[in-house]
Amino acid sequence: MVGTVLAVALLGPATGWAQLKELRPGWNLFSAEQDVQLGKEAAAEIERQAPVVHNRELDDYLNVILRKLEQSRYARTLERDGRRAELYPFTIQAVYDKNINAFSLPGGPIFVNTAVIQAAENEAQLAGVMAHEMSHVVLRHSTNQASKRNLIALPALLAGALAGNSLLGQLTQIGISFGANSALLKFSRTDEAEADYNGAEIMADAGYNPLEMARFFEILEGKSGRQGSLVQFLSDHPNPGNRAEAINDEIRRLPRRAYVEDETGQFSHVQELVRHLGAPVHARGNTGEDGGSAAVPAERPSGRVRSYAGRSYSLEFPDNWQIQGSRQENVVTLAPRGGVLESGGQTLVGYGLEVSYHDTQGRPADLERDTRDLVQHIRESNADMHVGREARRIEVDRKPAILSTLYSQSPYRGEQEVDVLVTVARPQGLFYMVFVAPQSRFDSVQATFEEIVRSVRFQ
Ligand SMILES: [Zn+2]
Repeated sequence: MVGTVLAVALLGPATGWAQLKELRPGWNLFSAEQDVQLGKEAAAEIERQAPVVHNRELDDYLNVILRKLEQSRYARTLERDGRRAELYPFTIQAVYDKNINAFSLPGGPIFVNTAVIQAAENEAQLAGVMAHEMSHVVLRHSTNQASKRNLIALPALLAGALAGNSLLGQLTQIGISFGANSALLKFSRTDEAEADYNGAEIMADAGYNPLEMARFFEILEGKSGRQGSLVQFLSDHPNPGNRAEAINDEIRRLPRRAYVEDETGQFSHVQELVRHLGAPVHARGNTGEDGGSAAVPAERPSGRVRSYAGRSYSLEFPDNWQIQGSRQENVVTLAPRGGVLESGGQTLVGYGLEVSYHDTQGRPADLERDTRDLVQHIRESNADMHVGREARRIEVDRKPAILSTLYSQSPYRGEQEVDVLVTVARPQGLFYMVFVAPQSRFDSVQATFEEIVRSVRFQ
């Protein structure tokens, strides 16, 4: 028996596997269970504050990738005795945010901004971001940093922490925070190098080419120089110096495998789904000083009109409303002052009109089918939205159109929201207008909405 074990040990290095580093977490005052507790508490906080997307299709997709990555032994913490620990209870959620970023909390919760899914070129790149975040969890970087910075206060606090009490709350009292934008989620360069390294190992085990992680970081570097690009990821996860080269160097030590870029074959579909997501309604109205407590705009729509020329259409709208977006962008918003609100870093239309085309995936638009599809998209991204009265057939510029009414929670204080959706099949896709108003104002603005519908001309 001894001989056999020895033979395996001697054979090891020749395969190349042994040259791979097996990374271990640094010194830590927290127990693994405390990591989990802390992460759960901090995640609950984030779910209350951030616009977390609740879309079953997207959630399922992210979880399929997560489960693949979890199969790797590098998804488990390496213990002192050389064994791999139990898997942390990893979770993954998408946050509706135009800023390219992702973060993880101690003990397993991972959050990926929708902009990451948009910026990735393939599933392997998205999996790379997730594997990187998982590695921060596995290597316990957050609580390692907290331990190093709070040598004096922490030991007593952790020893005295009572089960059933909020650990997060007790830590907050001594000035340690784990929420979004917390200093402890901005890792050191050493942490980053480790998360890249361990993340590449996880990816390779799951069948994703680790090279795609390096490529994605290069894409972000390229974007971050450009004006208007929102790439928070690189400041939260700073480049340890030679990121791409280090990953390439590591790949040479990995066993050769045939990788695919899009393992599930669903990436472009999900990317399309994300592109059409609206801001999650549930995130509205629960924060203190922003949209949540804003009052409904008092100014009435002016009787005078201005024209707006969009992509192959024009329309007229009250001249005291403002235009947001441009011809080049897919979506234009026409709204009175105070009709567009900033909440949790995103823009919401609470009162006004949004005009765009719903992508019909290369097929000629079919009014019934694509309207159903669009309504479905809108509902999936707005947890508390429901469809009202039966859809009505109308005409817009003598073309058949459908008018649907939806109800949801308004970003204005104590208000319900009415959304009137008008759709028309066009060669460019399904043309749509959504009229948004708080219920209390709907009757008075309905005439304005009807005039706008009547003013639409297609080219
Ligand atoms: Zn990182």
